[in-house]
Amino acid sequence: MAERSHLDWPFFEERHRALARDLDAWAAKNIHPRYEEDLDQECRQLVRQLGEAGWLKYAIGGKAYGALSDTIDTRAICLIRETLARHSGLADFAFAMQGLGSGAITLFGTDAQKSSYLPRVSDGSLVAAFALSEPDAGSDAAALRCEARRDGDAYVLNGEKTWISNGGIADFYVVFARTGEEPGPRGITAFIVEPATEGFEIAERIEAIAPHPMARIEFRNCRIPSSQRLGEPAQGFKVAMATLDVFRSSVAAAALGFARRALDEALRRATSRKMFGQTLSDFQLTQAKLASMATGIDAAALLTYRAAWLRDQGCRVTVEAAMAKMTATETAQQVIDAAVQIFGALGVVSDQTIERLYREIRPLRIYEGATEVQQLIIARGILSAFQESEGSRG
Ligand SMILES: Cc1cc2nc3c(=O)[nH]c(=O)nc-3n(C[C@H](O)[C@H](O)[C@H](O)COP(=O)(O)OP(=O)(O)OC[C@H]3O[C@@H](n4cnc5c(N)ncnc54)[C@H](O)[C@@H]3O)c2cc1C
Repeated sequence: MAERSHLDWPFFEERHRALARDLDAWAAKNIHPRYEEDLDQECRQLVRQLGEAGWLKYAIGGKAYGALSDTIDTRAICLIRETLARHSGLADFAFAMQGLGSGAITLFGTDAQKSSYLPRVSDGSLVAAFALSEPDAGSDAAALRCEARRDGDAYVLNGEKTWISNGGIADFYVVFARTGEEPGPRGITAFIVEPATEGFEIAERIEAIAPHPMARIEFRNCRIPSSQRLGEPAQGFKVAMATLDVFRSSVAAAALGFARRALDEALRRATSRKMFGQTLSDFQLTQAKLASMATGIDAAALLTYRAAWLRDQGCRVTVEAAMAKMTATETAQQVIDAAVQIFGALGVVSDQTIERLYREIRPLRIYEGATEVQQLIIARGILSAFQESEGSRG
């Protein structure tokens, strides 16, 4: 049987197939999978490289501001994340954060805000960050407490944000703060904050199992001009959710990239490791593992690209993206764990490909909505569809 790639699936157009092939060739030549000593430096360098090579044009929307298209092409960002994740978790991170950190500007920014930030996000000269989470507001983001008090033609920010990716190296942060119009999600507004602003402080750098720049940030009487408000007052929660919605399927795609790399590595090892007078892949127990790894990856990829394709057709994909994110991240964790097992002791040696993948995949089951949150979103969606159809039957 001729080898068939997922790129042959009908979800894609020819330009997507070309994009995936070109990026794969570029990444093989330009991306080095090992972290340098200085992580901040390496991350900035990756953003610059991705910008100079033109890949970040996909992370933003608006041709007038340096994007390839006016709206973000979901299938393209998924293919880019899947491909980069196969080569390097940090390269995937650098791409993803440029998109997530500037997504709210693409979606809700004024012309002046878009002109001032998006072209430089796209050429890799500005590093972006998205600051929603707080110590007491993670999954329950609407419980955030950081406040922005109106004072003349400015807002005064007080409070803190944590787990902020690119914290410490970002040139701007999209920050969500309580402006108090109403309690809960209806009293939050978004702002673009630059770290040179007085009262902005990186309070703590955080080291995670899959290293990337991350920090806790404090705001003390940090004065933000009203021109830096992003979207309408009290619409900040909508701004945050809409931004996360664009990128949710792409988290699934990154998980696929990690899983595919683990399967490739496992196949190579299983077909070369000699034991008991045979090769590891000759044993049916190994074949069962490889079969579930490959099947899990294809099932997760079908859900991921279904969600991405539907979104590109203009459909709401709340349930489909949640199914994709949950399935792809959970499956990738199992695939990578099986690969560690196939590698034996070699699978747990620090900083080797398989061990790195084992660490890279773990946070994806937590951020941008933990698996349990995705389960609730899916259940809510199917329950309300069921109740609607029952109601219409009378
Ligand atoms: C690597 C990494 C990068 C991140 N980058 C950013 C960033 O750039 N910007 C940003 O704003 N935030 C970022 N975050 C934060 C991330 O969004 C939060 O970690 C996430 O929302 C979960 O919040 P929490 O960690 O406070 O966990 P909690 O909200 O305390 O949840 C803990 C656990 O409770 C379970 N749970 C949650 N809800 C339910 C429920 N309804 N029912 C049952 N169980 C439930 C889940 O298993 C969850 O993992 C990042 C996190 C990580 C790990």
